[in-house]
Amino acid sequence: MDRDFARERRLMTDSQIRARGVRDPLVLAAMAKVPRHLFVPEGLRPHAYADEPLPIGDGQTISQPYIVAYMTEALGLRGGERVLEIGTGSGYQTAVLAEIAGEVWTIEIVEPLALRSRAILDGLGTTNVRYRIGDGSKGWPEAAPFDAVIVTAAAPQMPVALEGQLAVGGRMIIPVGTDLQELYLVRRTKKGFDKERRLAVRFVPLI
Ligand code: SAH
Repeated sequence: MDRDFARERRLMTDSQIRARGVRDPLVLAAMAKVPRHLFVPEGLRPHAYADEPLPIGDGQTISQPYIVAYMTEALGLRGGERVLEIGTGSGYQTAVLAEIAGEVWTIEIVEPLALRSRAILDGLGTTNVRYRIGDGSKGWPEAAPFDAVIVTAAAPQMPVALEGQLAVGGRMIIPVGTDLQELYLVRRTKKGFDKERRLAVRFVPLI
């Protein structure tokens, strides 16, 4: 029997995301729409809408729904933006971004994950995503500048290469640190970079 995943998704959006303060209607709509259960291993589908990260194989994890929503909201997307994502992983965050932004460039270093996430997104009919397999810490210079950059694995230090690929007025959300990590929001201004520490988090490290 099929579970009522659409209902689970609405409950997730209300009780885990809206209730914790995410207010952007575009983010809430995307979270209520993207079928997260398709991005987790089949045996974990019953847990897909639970308030936790889940293993996706190859030692990696799909982020907790709230963190995906929080990071997406921090980018301030209104539609039409060019977004760079480092750490495609399951492709779930990619799908949420593709729902709101104009175009998404996503980089994943673990090939099986990159191939699997692409197959799922293709299956959903997503056409505004470009994929690359490799080290994302140098960004995607040929496609820069980006209006938004999102990094979903922790960097030991703020990566200068990624800051440099932000457009003026652009934003980057990134976990920085080793044991203790914090989510930073970086805004590029005409004069330089404003950096704001937002939230204590726990991500797998960048490889
Ligand atoms: N947004 C993903 C998070 C996956 S976890 C999701 O919700 O499913 C972080 C991902 O970053 C992993 O898939 C990992 O393989 C990838 N990663 C780690 N180091 C990387 C690097 N240097 N370049 C690109 N991807 C990297």
